[in-house]
Amino acid sequence: MSDKKENCGLFGIFGDPAAVQKTYFGLFALQHRGQESAGIASSNGEILQVYTGMGTVPRVFRAGSDILDKLSNPIAIGHVRYSTTGSSKVANSQPFFVEYSRGQCAIAHNGNLINAGLLRDEYEAYGSIFKSTTDTEIIAHLLAKPTHVAKPDPLGHVLNHLQGSFSLLFLFQDRIEAARDAYGIRPLCIGKTETGAYVAASETCALDAVGAQFIREVEPGEIVTLGKRGITSRFFVTPGSIKPAHCLFEHIYFAKQNSTIFGENVHEFRKKLGRQLAIEHPVKADVVVPIPDSGTSSAIGYSEKSGIPFDMGMVRSHYVGRTFISPEQKMRELDVKIKLAPIKEVVKGKRVVVVDDSIVRGTTTKGKIKAFRDAGAKEIHMRVSCPPIRFPCFYGIDFPTKEELIATNRTIEQIRDFLNVETLGYMSIEGLLASTTLPGDHYCCACWEGKYRIPVDVAVTKFAMEHYQLRMFEESQ
Ligand code: SF4
Repeated sequence: MSDKKENCGLFGIFGDPAAVQKTYFGLFALQHRGQESAGIASSNGEILQVYTGMGTVPRVFRAGSDILDKLSNPIAIGHVRYSTTGSSKVANSQPFFVEYSRGQCAIAHNGNLINAGLLRDEYEAYGSIFKSTTDTEIIAHLLAKPTHVAKPDPLGHVLNHLQGSFSLLFLFQDRIEAARDAYGIRPLCIGKTETGAYVAASETCALDAVGAQFIREVEPGEIVTLGKRGITSRFFVTPGSIKPAHCLFEHIYFAKQNSTIFGENVHEFRKKLGRQLAIEHPVKADVVVPIPDSGTSSAIGYSEKSGIPFDMGMVRSHYVGRTFISPEQKMRELDVKIKLAPIKEVVKGKRVVVVDDSIVRGTTTKGKIKAFRDAGAKEIHMRVSCPPIRFPCFYGIDFPTKEELIATNRTIEQIRDFLNVETLGYMSIEGLLASTTLPGDHYCCACWEGKYRIPVDVAVTKFAMEHYQLRMFEESQ
């Protein structure tokens, strides 16, 4: 839960007089994907304007300020950020603005480029100066490189140099380009408003927020242009040449319940996980309670399948800001207490099934369990709707180090003992993959299995990077 961090959220809209206002609302709907910084870039067809700041969307674009009015233009992109690379500072906030030989461009990125360090070293060795510490800035340098500018499709050429996960929005003076990495790791979709404006967003909940209808997802390896001719498409890798590796954690935790990603509604998927958990780990109990909000849908599914009544045994405060979160242990425990409070009347004297989406370090989960004990729960049976997380994520999710993950070097029994629960049941990887709509090998499961679809160890060597780029480039021809 709170010890794994969201990644980033993207929103863009072309051809709407209220594009900037709608971007504001789109970002609001995507706030769960990042609360560290927010920003909007807009274009009147000739000149770009950008405003970014630290904090949540309403904090950056304060009520009563005229920031949105000053940005007002018919083309806009926006970004909410949680830093997975680069520290939390305003220079790292996005959209990232650059001016180069081809004009102006603003970039919004969700994901993590695993070869960014290598590329940065290369550019710095030739004298390039970087103004941020994000991996996104390297994309700007790649775009501006004269040999890349000269290519028939400079953007497609540049995307072939990137390794890792990326859903990207590029705002040029006259268009938006929406692109997704060849594995489709992070979500990105396209929609259309009633007035005919095209929209691109990380999740469909942002389309709903501005009254846009979902058209389709951006395909892995695809660039969709939102411009005067409507939407047009091209691919920077041969379509279908690479098997997708959609991040399953998007479905389990990150995405909002009312979003549809990777072809399936998030709430319905999580309910399926809950039903599967009830099959794999049945128990005699009086009530099923979720850890809100991400455990709620799975708890409903568990209750449906087991026949044990569902109830809200814990309430979540939505008013505690992310800035309050401190890495120190004591503050983290206090944070849990303030954010989540048990309802004594629901759990007192009862055998309680507690359903959560995952356990990362274990310390926040332990705090929640203690709260249920203090509230008088007689027995606590912990059910987790994903397998034990044992490996780090290199594709844009900020898990702690391998050493800090509770499941890395502990048995299930040791974790049960640490959490102080009567029983502990994790979802099996087979059960997880049996619940997906797409075939199981279309998802990334690296944080559970340690099998990285984009080889991380290989990718950091220069030789391998060149080899990889060459292969990707050849596949795209
Ligand atoms: S390692 Fe885990 S969190 Fe990272 S992309 Fe893969 S499934 Fe998602």
